[in-house]
Amino acid sequence: MTGRIVKGIGGFYYILAAGKEYTLKAPGRFRKEGIKPVVGDVVEFDLKGGYIDKILPRKNQFYRPAVSNVTQVFIVFTHSNPKADLILIDKLIIQSELSGINVVLVINKCDEMDDDEIEQLKEQYTAFDTICVSAKTGRGIDEIKKRIGNNVSFFAGQSGVGKSSIINCISEIFQAKTGEISQKLGRGKHTTRHVELIYIPELQGGILDTPGFSFYDFKDDETCIDDGYREFKDTRDNCKFIGCTHINEPKCAVKDGIGTVINEQRYERYKKIYSELKEMRDKRYD
Ligand code: GDP
Ligand code: ZN
Repeated sequence: MTGRIVKGIGGFYYILAAGKEYTLKAPGRFRKEGIKPVVGDVVEFDLKGGYIDKILPRKNQFYRPAVSNVTQVFIVFTHSNPKADLILIDKLIIQSELSGINVVLVINKCDEMDDDEIEQLKEQYTAFDTICVSAKTGRGIDEIKKRIGNNVSFFAGQSGVGKSSIINCISEIFQAKTGEISQKLGRGKHTTRHVELIYIPELQGGILDTPGFSFYDFKDDETCIDDGYREFKDTRDNCKFIGCTHINEPKCAVKDGIGTVINEQRYERYKKIYSELKEMRDKRYD
């Protein structure tokens, strides 16, 4: 049979296959081969043996927390309380884009913002799929539900933006877990040890109960963060210099595009993130 690991506790793996959950162990040879199953893995198993036979190739993998095959992130932010830290949002976008995860932006607490405020946020992210949501009134919840099917998603964003409130609106499954979910998602730091993939049968998709992943993995690479900017992609082919960082080079098409295809505030934050990462790398190799 083939199924997906949704939870792993004390050497047991909980595997969802054709709507049923099975509990299996990893065979001894996995340890010798340095293989450790993680939540999100698609595995083959034989019920008679009680062991996982094989882990199918992973599409991506994260370490803190350990999960694989993540396909989508809902990045939640608001201009109400807490006011969005857009540098953080941009970093989450970069990390997701570089990991091959589909980005959906969720502007929550729209009931507490006027149209101008919502528009100001939206116009910085025109290259992205953006949904205006209110977990309080239910606005936009159906738009989120539509994107759950056939995906392994998670909800990222600052503590207090409404991640657990939104998840509660999505399915009754989460209402039973309210306390647990909000404790895990409300944490600012990604300290969740046991991550679980919660499958929603009526939407045919799964949500991970983690507020995000550690940035640890891409910190030392400021030169490739422009790959994380969708709106640079068409433009940057026209930069004069190959490997243009779009900071000081002359004849840079990205800089020329500011005000038209490139949003100025997004570009200013790009420069900040670039120098922050560069500084971190310089320090490390001093
Ligand atoms: P999390 O830390 O991101 O999981 O955030 P919570 O879901 O715990 O929400 C934090 C606070 O914001 C709670 O008091 C919620 O009731 C409130 N909240 C969440 N979504 C909305 C919303 O759409 N509108 C309003 N007005 N309040 C909200
Ligand atoms: Zn350039």
